[in-house]
Amino acid sequence: MAIHISNYQELRDLCREAGATLVAVSKTKPSSEINSLYELGQRDFGENYVQELADKKPELPADIHWHYIGHLQSNKVKYIASFVHLVHGVDGLKLLQEINKQAAKHHRTIDCLLQVHIAREETKFGLDEKELEELISTVRNNAGEYANIRITGFMGMGSFSEDPKVVRPEFRHLRQLYDHYASQQQSATVNLHTLSMGMSGDYRIALEEGSNMLRIGSLLFGSRN
Ligand SMILES: *Cc1c(COP(=O)(O)O)cnc(C)c1O
Repeated sequence: MAIHISNYQELRDLCREAGATLVAVSKTKPSSEINSLYELGQRDFGENYVQELADKKPELPADIHWHYIGHLQSNKVKYIASFVHLVHGVDGLKLLQEINKQAAKHHRTIDCLLQVHIAREETKFGLDEKELEELISTVRNNAGEYANIRITGFMGMGSFSEDPKVVRPEFRHLRQLYDHYASQQQSATVNLHTLSMGMSGDYRIALEEGSNMLRIGSLLFGSRN
């Protein structure tokens, strides 16, 4: 299996024009393929499984920005806390507290995106609007307890649908929530500048709706088993 170089160049140029960050989602793919993309200049990679990420990290260049995009369990934060660049899927206070605690052990601050539930499907993780409001105000009002994390944006997944009529309003809704909170007073712990939405099937719509971070797997690495 080889990486899809022309897709990569196209996506890279598109992201550059749009001022968006391209995260290459390399879950289930070998380090050799990640390295091929690295050699073309790619630096941001996303993984979904803690063990897989912890295994790959030492095999690859140290200046890679590793994004954790899966559902993170509190008891596994410790395995990635020393190096993870951005955690995309934070959906509860307990997890945020654990990330803060593990980050403190490594004397660093870990940037986190809050995952918001926007899809129709019941199965996807994420906060509803009320939970989002509560989480943000808790962190804002207790900044001293969260000195080692920073909420830097939101992440969402659209419904599994090729139909723009389904996905577009979901992305638009997330963008509106993002704009709402980004327009409020920013602080050391809540400082919003990243909106992570859009995957291989829906990235164009996501960009049109204001995404500034795409998470692209199969278009770059081919389909997964
Ligand atoms: C796998 C995955 C992606 C990439 O999906 P593709 O459709 O292969 O681009 C993006 N985001 C998350 C959260 C994922 O789990």
